[in-house]
Amino acid sequence: MTCEHKEGRTVKVTAKTIEIRCKARGCRELLHTRTRVLSSNIFAVARVGKNTEIQFLNGDTKGPGEVAVYFNVPKHLHESLMASKSKGKYFHQNIKDDFEWEYLKEKEDEEEEEVEDGG
Ligand SMILES: [Zn+2]
Repeated sequence: MTCEHKEGRTVKVTAKTIEIRCKARGCRELLHTRTRVLSSNIFAVARVGKNTEIQFLNGDTKGPGEVAVYFNVPKHLHESLMASKSKGKYFHQNIKDDFEWEYLKEKEDEEEEEVEDGG
């Protein structure tokens, strides 16, 4: 389910996920979640409908960088990507040049990382 608001999206980076939420005041619906991955060049990955969303590492900060959407990636390729030990390598060999893609145009406002306190 996605809401109908057009205010844009807000992004919260946590230890294991990136939560993409509606920016509208009073809504903040969770639109989808990216899974953080260990890779030399990919920060996080999400399955959004039939598309695979790849968030690259920002080379300067080693934090979240640009997000590209690869269209109509077969589910088995996405699952193999997520199961791969070297996600960057798998992505380059099996997805990068084989599917139409575009950068996410929508500006994402990042929230600060939420730190869980032990208490
Ligand atoms: Zn909303």
